[in-house]
Amino acid sequence: MSDAGDGARKPAIKKPKRSLEPRFVGYRGVWVFVEHERGHVHPVSWELIGKGRELADKLQVELAGVVLGGNGAAVRALCDEAVFHGADLCYLMQDEVLLDYRNQPYTKGMASLVDTFQPEVLMLGATTQGRDLAGSVATTLLTGLTADCTGLDIDTSDRTLLSVRPTFGGSLMCTIVNVSTRPQMTTVRPRVMPMPARDAARSGRVIEHPLGLSEAEVVTKVVDFIPDARADKPQLAFADFVVAGGRGLAKPENFELLFDLARELGAEVGASRPAVHANWVETDRQVGQSGKTVRPKLYIAAGISGAVQHRVGMEGADVIVAINNDEKAPIMDFSNYALIGNAAELLPALTEAFRSRIAAARAKKGGAA
Ligand SMILES: Cc1cc2nc3c(=O)[nH]c(=O)nc-3n(C[C@H](O)[C@H](O)[C@H](O)COP(=O)(O)OP(=O)(O)OC[C@H]3O[C@@H](n4cnc5c(N)ncnc54)[C@H](O)[C@@H]3O)c2cc1C
Repeated sequence: MSDAGDGARKPAIKKPKRSLEPRFVGYRGVWVFVEHERGHVHPVSWELIGKGRELADKLQVELAGVVLGGNGAAVRALCDEAVFHGADLCYLMQDEVLLDYRNQPYTKGMASLVDTFQPEVLMLGATTQGRDLAGSVATTLLTGLTADCTGLDIDTSDRTLLSVRPTFGGSLMCTIVNVSTRPQMTTVRPRVMPMPARDAARSGRVIEHPLGLSEAEVVTKVVDFIPDARADKPQLAFADFVVAGGRGLAKPENFELLFDLARELGAEVGASRPAVHANWVETDRQVGQSGKTVRPKLYIAAGISGAVQHRVGMEGADVIVAINNDEKAPIMDFSNYALIGNAAELLPALTEAFRSRIAAARAKKGGAA
């Protein structure tokens, strides 16, 4: 186990020297499940393609996207997208039975692909769908799965995947190694890995494979498709700017000061767990180990101490600004800038400063046009 608090850091573990077991020699390649809803991809899939590229290069093997879905052109086009984001090839399984996600046919499809082509690493997003599918695929294939990882690396000596994740309530980071089965499966939280650049000049192969399951054999039926109505709910995980508040804001009314600042910046509002538990804001806004992982360009933390369970959810931000009246608060150890003082006074001042700066910049731009 390594020190707490830095999921992305290269895992520092001591382990016995091993070499690749002969029965695993036939397993080659890194795969990423491309999760989508009728052709709309979950961004974690591209984040994993980015990480998968790095792992595949270390293993000196190919990186593949895996697309399962209905017969539409939008699904086939996802293979191109997987390649544009860094994959060398894409496995494609198209069948009307796979139009909407259902555990049974997707498990059958993925297990059949793995049995046929034998990858050594299979990665999925730690989303509702990814978690559901990963668990049933792992039990079907009788292989190991490390869930909810925050860091991945390869031990090139024996080609094992080093899966890093928080443990003991987030107070330690552990590195989990699957030494006895293949493929090595893992799910990774959205926004933990950086998004790779998209290069539309890249080209790669598409390998098609049949599902071999009829609708009559599937025990669950889709009676209707209702698009996610949560579009108006906080989209914290994908926000470029997040302003978050904690217990130091003292009362729910002070969260209004955060919402004022968020409106000025076009930011989402996040919160620490105590603020959510006190019902100052909705659960959807919680950042941290038991909440969302965010990776914004700017994270402003007001009245948040920086406990490790909060830190793991926001330390991937490009710039962290702490507003705290305690200059020795743990968040000072990993923030880029700090405003020391009472958040209830500093937040309105910050909002006003941004308002006048942004207005001046807009006026200048308008004048120049
Ligand atoms: C299993 C487990 C999972 C958890 N998951 C999460 C999670 O997902 N997210 C999460 O956030 N926590 C989580 N926690 C809780 C975590 O351990 C901390 O308790 C929590 O993050 C602390 O929240 P806080 O910083 O708002 O409060 P505190 O730790 O109480 O910090 C308040 C901060 O506000 C400052 N302050 C006080 N008054 C002012 C003021 N007037 N102006 C400015 N600053 C002020 C204080 O100096 C202090 O630094 C989890 C805990 C466990 C055990």
